[in-house]
Amino acid sequence: MKALEVSDVSISYNGSLAIDKVSFDVNEGDLLGIVGPNGAGKTTLFRAILGLQGYAGIIRLFGYEAKKYYPLLPLIGYVSQKVNFEPNFPATVYEVVAMGLLSEKKLNKISTLLQKNGHSWNRVYSKLDKNSEKILQALKTVNLDSLKDRRIGQLSGGELQRVFIAKALVKDPILMILDEPVTGVDVDTQTKFYNVIKKINEENKITIVWSSHDLEAIAKLANRVACMNRQLFFHGQKEEFFSNKDLLKTYTESAMQMHMHHH
Ligand code: ADP
Repeated sequence: MKALEVSDVSISYNGSLAIDKVSFDVNEGDLLGIVGPNGAGKTTLFRAILGLQGYAGIIRLFGYEAKKYYPLLPLIGYVSQKVNFEPNFPATVYEVVAMGLLSEKKLNKISTLLQKNGHSWNRVYSKLDKNSEKILQALKTVNLDSLKDRRIGQLSGGELQRVFIAKALVKDPILMILDEPVTGVDVDTQTKFYNVIKKINEENKITIVWSSHDLEAIAKLANRVACMNRQLFFHGQKEEFFSNKDLLKTYTESAMQMHMHHH
């Protein structure tokens, strides 16, 4: 079953194409790694999927097309590093995760829509009785339960990232889109983040689309890979990507070029 289908999608800003006829699909249960240099159009593509950006072409989410899938959008977890965050916002970790809760009414409506198209929905947190249990379980999954009462302004970048993952988790997302940072964080922080990605994909069976510059991590965690730079130049099994020397060379060269552009 397909979670997401992107067909011939093009997007331009002021007449120049940021995305040029990109097509790929994501199966339910996939952990798709999207690689591409800065400016390749990854965020633009994610914004289109989230209904925040106009496009030409077709995007289908769980079998629904265009505006028909908007009711499902609350169940897409989007975690971006580019989010601007007010460090003095007076909320605790627990309170931020609570903001991710959805009403039972909304969840039922979404569940009906998914069933109609033959999709199953693995409820782990939202099926728990009390909101406090949902929040604590989600925080346990990302290993932050011990920090639940901490103010979010007093967290490290890596911890904050995992708080936002927990906020997406409490409602049992059907798809997680993780737009990874361009700037490097320390290895320990990264390892913790990657462990969480792996865990929610394998244990919670959440379909994940994850953009990253870390080829080594993608080689380890993803099952499929998409490679893009305005156009898509590869989409398929991870093994196929990493055994194709020409493809890896092209990717590395275009990444280097972009890198030099930026300096
Ligand atoms: P990535 O996420 O892969 O780094 P983006 O989607 O952010 O790439 O950007 C793709 C291209 O579109 C870049 O050339 C960027 O400068 C341009 N772009 C992104 N957002 C806008 C915008 N709001 N207006 C004009 N150009 C934009």
